Amino acid sequence: MNILVPGCGGFIGSHFVERMLARDGVTIVGWDAETSKISHLLDHPRLVLRQRLLKGPSAYEAFAADVENCDWLVNLAAICNPSQYNTEPLRTIYANFIDGYPIVELASQYKKPLIHYSTSEVYGRTLASYVSSEVYAAEDLYLMDAERTPMVMGPIQNQRWTYATAKQLLERLIYAYHKESGLDFAVIRPFNFFGPRMDYLPGIEGEGKPRVLAMFIAAVLQGRPMLLVDGGRAKRTITSIHDAIDALVAVIERREQSLNHFYNIGNPANEVSMRELAQAVRSAFARVTGEPRFLDHPTLDVDARAFYGDGYEDCDRRILDISAEQARLAWTPKRSLEQLLDETVGYYWQKYGERSRLRATG
Ligand code: NAD
Ligand code: UDP
Repeated sequence: MNILVPGCGGFIGSHFVERMLARDGVTIVGWDAETSKISHLLDHPRLVLRQRLLKGPSAYEAFAADVENCDWLVNLAAICNPSQYNTEPLRTIYANFIDGYPIVELASQYKKPLIHYSTSEVYGRTLASYVSSEVYAAEDLYLMDAERTPMVMGPIQNQRWTYATAKQLLERLIYAYHKESGLDFAVIRPFNFFGPRMDYLPGIEGEGKPRVLAMFIAAVLQGRPMLLVDGGRAKRTITSIHDAIDALVAVIERREQSLNHFYNIGNPANEVSMRELAQAVRSAFARVTGEPRFLDHPTLDVDARAFYGDGYEDCDRRILDISAEQARLAWTPKRSLEQLLDETVGYYWQKYGERSRLRATG
């Protein structure tokens, strides 16, 4: 089996490529300019790496030949860092819609099944954040069902939604190609995947504002308070990267049942507020290191506008229905929040714990 993977060098890509190369008979043709997360796989004889971005006419010509030769196309290429959606809206729209357009077109032209990574952000905010339950009492006030729930975004000036709307339009394009040209697809909407190799640790591995767990872990390792945006009241359902990859593998293995559907991939059992997540990170550090000092690690409340700039608007809550996903994929997420935090904190502690130890001992 030959799998073509744009965005193979990212967080999800690195875990997917690792998992698939462990199987006999699988070849991965990966496209990405960034390869540090797959550096341990670069010498593998069944990984063919095109170390470049999929952008512009010459890249698409070379990419078309790879599409022609593949059995599956798994598209992971994106810009998906919330701090960029309102500060670099044009880059966000181009990367998540314009650059994705030819991938969809080529999958349709060569009749290859496309597994496309979208986002749980396509739902926007919950209906419950706008409408009182006295006016509208249906379950989808909170619950996100992949093939039923409406999508609710804020106004255009709130540029936080550039990412979600670009992703949503690409989903609609895929569905249109399916209906009009017979493209086979699966669209996956991830719900906050966490694990080793996620994002980058700010102040250690790069500069900026990555997603929340990388922010929290970097803060603890560097002896800074964990920042709670608007008091950390937003809620998310957290998913282990390994459960997420199990779902992706199931889409490939069960193609008769899996194709031509939209999937919520997440773990409804792991819902936490960001304040609770900070507490869970403190506990994970204490368990992993055996050092109780981490239980008192401070947090600091910050205003969303001061932290992200103008045009940021938060998703209040993302609680998902996965009953259809469980039935079609014979898949259930298994890892608890505690387990996945221990694994992730353990990974970063092994890499960077010495710095924290030196700071603590003066
Ligand atoms: P990531 O940022 O770690 O990986 C994305 C990769 O795509 C990067 O390595 C980047 O260099 C590459 N890329 C960007 N543009 C490219 C191009 N034109 N050609 C080739 N490569 C390109 O992100 P991730 O967490 O691995 O996410 C993968 C997909 O899942 C994305 O579509 C993202 O929107 C979606 N997603 C992920 C999460 C999550 O929890 N990780 C949540 C929601 C959505
Ligand atoms: N957040 C936070 N502190 C941080 C970074 C993020 O409290 O240092 C909050 C953010 O405002 C949001 C939640 O954590 O409510 C999740 O943010 P993330 O960037 O991980 O991505 P999202 O789930 O919003 O796509």
